[in-house]
Amino acid sequence: GQCITHCPVGALRERDDVDRLFEALADPETVTMVQVAPAVRTAWGEGLGLSREESTTGKLISALRQVGFDYVFDTVYSADLTIMEEGSEFLKRFQDRDSYNWPMFTSCCPGWLRFVKSQYPHLVSNLSTAKSPQQMFGAVAKTYMAQKIGVDPEKIFCVSIMPCVSKKFECDVKQVNDSGYGKDVDLVLTTRELDRLVRADRIKAEALEEEAFDKFFGEGSGAGLIFGSSGGVMEAALRSAYFLLTKKNPKPDAFKRIRGEEGWRSATFEIEGVPINVAVVSGLGNTRKLLEALKRGEVCYDFVEIMACPGGCAGGGGQPIQEGMELAPERGTILYGMDRVAQPRFSHENNAVLLTYEEFLKEPMSERAHELLHTELAEWEIE
Ligand code: SF4
Repeated sequence: GQCITHCPVGALRERDDVDRLFEALADPETVTMVQVAPAVRTAWGEGLGLSREESTTGKLISALRQVGFDYVFDTVYSADLTIMEEGSEFLKRFQDRDSYNWPMFTSCCPGWLRFVKSQYPHLVSNLSTAKSPQQMFGAVAKTYMAQKIGVDPEKIFCVSIMPCVSKKFECDVKQVNDSGYGKDVDLVLTTRELDRLVRADRIKAEALEEEAFDKFFGEGSGAGLIFGSSGGVMEAALRSAYFLLTKKNPKPDAFKRIRGEEGWRSATFEIEGVPINVAVVSGLGNTRKLLEALKRGEVCYDFVEIMACPGGCAGGGGQPIQEGMELAPERGTILYGMDRVAQPRFSHENNAVLLTYEEFLKEPMSERAHELLHTELAEWEIE
């Protein structure tokens, strides 16, 4: 995704998007809702001259309220939902091994999706059908959330703040962004655009107070938070897959061996005596190396997490740029620190997610979950 940020088309698009947000905020009929991706909270203060200690999630929420959003929610909620779906999907495939192609790949990074669809199209059926957290949030926003907050879904304008430029293109793909009420996600702004917005509104970053996300869809687990770092999706999925299989929680850090800074890491974990081989790659160069090694039969995995940006979304193409500095590891460490003190630390213990199933989706992989939270990647039309 990173190259897009430097091209003039990307810059034009950014200006248009900020204008569209101003229009929505100014319209009294429109209910504006924003979701914030995990990686954004590690970097938003960099572009505003705040120190790491000053740029808390609470102040970020306060800034978004001052910008004028009616509801400030957390993508970590839908990251937990993604884990419930993707973890269940992995187990289903694992228990019916011969019916599927292996390994299963994660599908939450549009940079990776574009790459695999154009360069390795025969591997598309290996991708999890789970939508990304951004798109799951959008699908739930215009259905269940609209009911919950008592708003006509047609009036909702759903915005995401993402560390990523490719997410702007993801919400242009009709096959993933239309649950029946126009676009699920109406607009994506990058972390850099958010910083510009804060400056344009003359919000004093250093004077922001601590605030909390709006109830319910602002709830997230530590597992959902680490989505923003390379390896985090895998670790979150394993924590919940373990629970789904054994009905017991693993130790929250049981799978931390998969963390690290190398662009391609692998590990074998045993769940009830069954070995599961996993790998994590970030950066498209490493991705190509892994796919070629798979083709030559040199490696063999069950589940692989792939992120296009080195270090994962923490190092995403929409994050503030500091010439010559690679900040993904530092920002990733912040997310693991947040996970360590988070309550709960498991996606399957997120109360908002549990209630979403109880009241609306029934269970992971249900018919409604399929309709709203999964997508046929083979049908995506990507330029
Ligand atoms: Fe976007 Fe994250 Fe993928 Fe980078 S790794 S392209 S930031 S989703």
